[in-house]
Amino acid sequence: MNEGPSRRRREADNEGSSPRGFARLDAAAFPVFAPGTVWLVGAGPGAPSLITLLGYHALVHADVVVYDALVNEHVLDWARPEAEIEYAGKRGGKPSANQGDISVRLVALAREGKRVLRLKGGDPFVFGRGGEEGQALARAGISFRIVPGISAGIGGLAYAGIPVTHRDTNHSVLFLTGHDATGDVPAGVDWRAVAQATPVIVMYMAVKNLTHIAERLTAHGRDQDDPVAVVSNASLPGQTVVETTLGAILDKATTEHLPTPAIVVVGRVTGFRRLLDWYSETLRENRLG
Ligand code: SAH
Repeated sequence: MNEGPSRRRREADNEGSSPRGFARLDAAAFPVFAPGTVWLVGAGPGAPSLITLLGYHALVHADVVVYDALVNEHVLDWARPEAEIEYAGKRGGKPSANQGDISVRLVALAREGKRVLRLKGGDPFVFGRGGEEGQALARAGISFRIVPGISAGIGGLAYAGIPVTHRDTNHSVLFLTGHDATGDVPAGVDWRAVAQATPVIVMYMAVKNLTHIAERLTAHGRDQDDPVAVVSNASLPGQTVVETTLGAILDKATTEHLPTPAIVVVGRVTGFRRLLDWYSETLRENRLG
């Protein structure tokens, strides 16, 4: 199945004349998207081009695409014209589709013999409930594949010029969700441990509860002067970055008008933006991501 490109390369090498030019995406180089299976695919943080080649391959072959709210709808243009497109996210203030319902739907579509593409923002296994959907598929005896994506808390920060690690600042990083299934600050988080464990804390879904979170972090020893960056709509033309401090966030007014979706990052890595903020330049110059 995977012999196509390598065989051609060998032949070309033998001829000694292969210009290492642009190679078309060759379906033979990718796993077969079999009917009756489900692929859980990460679409990346926002810009359509940040989906992986395997994610693109899945889109081109899917019979049905079930996608979430934070998936950039432009990537759906890469699906086949006959493919069914189903929306499974929040819209118009209605609550998001029940997670159990989505899993039941994926199983039903697979049992109809379809190639089912479940498309999720970022990476499906990072605060994305991909694990829950995978478990439901496994229990139902449906074959599935996980196609990782670029997570907003890493790749989204890169678009703000913030390296999630840097040898001058941190040898570890902590990823945290700012709310649980009910929307509250997650219970059962050891805030003392979170506040003190790592120089950098990256928070998903944290804007709504940001003041509460800052209260907990500072109450447990995190410095109020610790810098914070809030990166909204990362990798999209509307990207904005607000730089502030934990102390300033204790005032709810600081957090009230932050656009979402947003990643909140605490720690001195935010300072590298001064030299590394390449994307703002790009946006100013040609509005292309
Ligand atoms: N699985 C996704 C995260 C889903 S949770 C991933 O790996 O990225 C949804 C949260 O992701 C949002 O609340 C926000 O914190 C973050 N997020 C997703 N897309 C984003 C974007 N374009 N800009 C900033 N944050 C984003």
